[in-house]
Amino acid sequence: MSANERWDTILRSDKLKGENVWRKVLKHRVYDGECWVWSGSISQGYGRFNVFGFNTRPHRIAWAIFKGELRRGIVISQTCGKRSCFNPAHLFENEYKNLKRGSSSPEPSEIDWGRFWGSVAKTDECWDWIGYVKRDGYSVFCFRGKLLSAHRFAYRYLNGEIPDGLHIDHLCRNRRCVNPAHLEAVTQAENNRRAREQKET
Ligand SMILES: [Zn+2]
Ligand SMILES: [Zn+2]
Repeated sequence: MSANERWDTILRSDKLKGENVWRKVLKHRVYDGECWVWSGSISQGYGRFNVFGFNTRPHRIAWAIFKGELRRGIVISQTCGKRSCFNPAHLFENEYKNLKRGSSSPEPSEIDWGRFWGSVAKTDECWDWIGYVKRDGYSVFCFRGKLLSAHRFAYRYLNGEIPDGLHIDHLCRNRRCVNPAHLEAVTQAENNRRAREQKET
């Protein structure tokens, strides 16, 4: 068992709650807008926190306390793009790193994510793309020198792999939206059917 795995075992246990770890973590909280930025030591952009003799990450502790299990091989990332943020509301399970082993497509870097989130204005419902938009109303994001639809990028890297040939449909009918919860992978036929349905109503 690696040190990280041992640590995750502790995070899954009740020991965490008994030791007032969270109170110690909060001593290093600095508010930056809605973000809770870690004021302690940082490595690779993430907060670093030593507890029970293990170096771990405050955002992983926040996940374990407020969101639930740390699933093996799944990375906890920040929707705000700030690695040092440990606001539980900004954390999501990022499955992408998991897929990376079996796929050759490169992972978005912190800079890519910074550019991406810098072009998104979140509302309570939709996450509107405020970057470049084509005439047909669809968003464009440049990733590794290729132009992609921003909503396909969002689906691919926040929800998971897009099966071959499938379209990403907006359940909210807002073409600029990149909220992964509003996106669904559908066949071309289903996509056409929904477009017709929408025209008729
Ligand atoms: Zn944040
Ligand atoms: Zn939406």
